[in-house]
Amino acid sequence: MLGIAKAAEQYGGELPADFEKLTELKGVGPKCANLALGVAHQQAAISVDVHVHRVTNRWGFVQTSSPEQTMLQLEQKVPQQKWIDINRLLMPFGKHICTGRLPHCSTCPVLEYCMQVGVTSHR
Ligand code: SF4
Repeated sequence: MLGIAKAAEQYGGELPADFEKLTELKGVGPKCANLALGVAHQQAAISVDVHVHRVTNRWGFVQTSSPEQTMLQLEQKVPQQKWIDINRLLMPFGKHICTGRLPHCSTCPVLEYCMQVGVTSHR
């Protein structure tokens, strides 16, 4: 988020509501730019961090090898009015339940909908 703070500084304290302008700034990638657009400007944007990428691939909802590809597939599959919610909901879910190592599948609330792609062991 340091990149976003510098971006705001560069624009006189106002974050530009523009994906291209944000990603031109050093240290601001698609994940941060979309998070800023969604949170600061309420623009439909999907911020895909490692958690969102991992969770949606394990579900079998997307089949991708990078967060950037995940963002593109999610844009195709999820209605725009839900885009801002994706990071807000799936980042903590990935941090605490669908963890990188040994996900908590036995107590997971969405186990019945999940294909558990790539999960070889879990709690
Ligand atoms: S069932 Fe397991 S792999 Fe699927 S979302 Fe839940 S924790 Fe993740």
